Amino acid sequence: MLDYHLHLWPHHEHDTPLRVEQLADYCERAQESGVTELALTEHLFRFRQAGALLGGFWDDERVAPALAESMAEYWKFHATVDLDAYVACAQEAKEAGLPVVIGLEVDYYEDRMDTVAGLLAGYPFDVLLGSVHWVGGWRFDDLDDPVSMAEWSARDVDACWENYTRALEELAASGTCDVLAHPDLMKVAGHVPDAPAEWWDRMAEAAASSGMAAELSSSGWRKPVGEQFPAAPLLERFVARGVPLTTASDAHHLDHVAHRADDLRTVLASVGVDALQGYRDRTPYRVAVSGPAGGDA
Ligand SMILES: [Zn+2]
Ligand SMILES: [Zn+2]
Repeated sequence: MLDYHLHLWPHHEHDTPLRVEQLADYCERAQESGVTELALTEHLFRFRQAGALLGGFWDDERVAPALAESMAEYWKFHATVDLDAYVACAQEAKEAGLPVVIGLEVDYYEDRMDTVAGLLAGYPFDVLLGSVHWVGGWRFDDLDDPVSMAEWSARDVDACWENYTRALEELAASGTCDVLAHPDLMKVAGHVPDAPAEWWDRMAEAAASSGMAAELSSSGWRKPVGEQFPAAPLLERFVARGVPLTTASDAHHLDHVAHRADDLRTVLASVGVDALQGYRDRTPYRVAVSGPAGGDA
């Protein structure tokens, strides 16, 4: 069993030091839930190097001024950590024998994925998650931001899902990342179309045709939507197309590491999946869905 989506800091923190001891605590907590391998996947936008290269992407005439202002503030707060120091800390943990792999959670940047890939190529990443957290400069999943959340009452849900799915298709086609994180994130605040099948089909096809894996995440259980990512019908579509899976908590602190791993096992069993996909040096390999801690391997 894997926890292939872990952050080192809650969003409201941005000056917490990097410590291998924190990663050791993550591993210990995961092992209590029978999770044997962890991927450290901090947001790319937390790093100064990303700010220097990608900051300002919201200065586009299609982005409403209030959203552009909100995004500028968000980036100013977040993009403060040194990417080299993060990678060095993860590498130190790995060399100390902790069961971690080095990764990042990478967003989709329209027309800029070559720039992103160029930055990432300079680092020894094992796995890269691909995420769509914003469309057209709107952070639709930022539940704490009133400006972003107010948009929900002004937008058509079908159009939101259409724009999200198009971004996800473009992200997958770019070949920049390995795993689609929280694939149906657009539902996070509880807004789901009456007939989502068309978008589920396209999300599953995007993963299958790009060779990406898809993530099964417990984080949706902690959000207003109250269900795992992806929803059962989308998960079934991934499995039917042979898309490999990872499992993930999307923890931003120790208490959520390996969150509800047993419930994720139950979901996997319901679709007949008994193996996951791990990555080293961006090369995939199979990992058994182990039983709970102390149970069968
Ligand atoms: Zn995410
Ligand atoms: Zn995340």
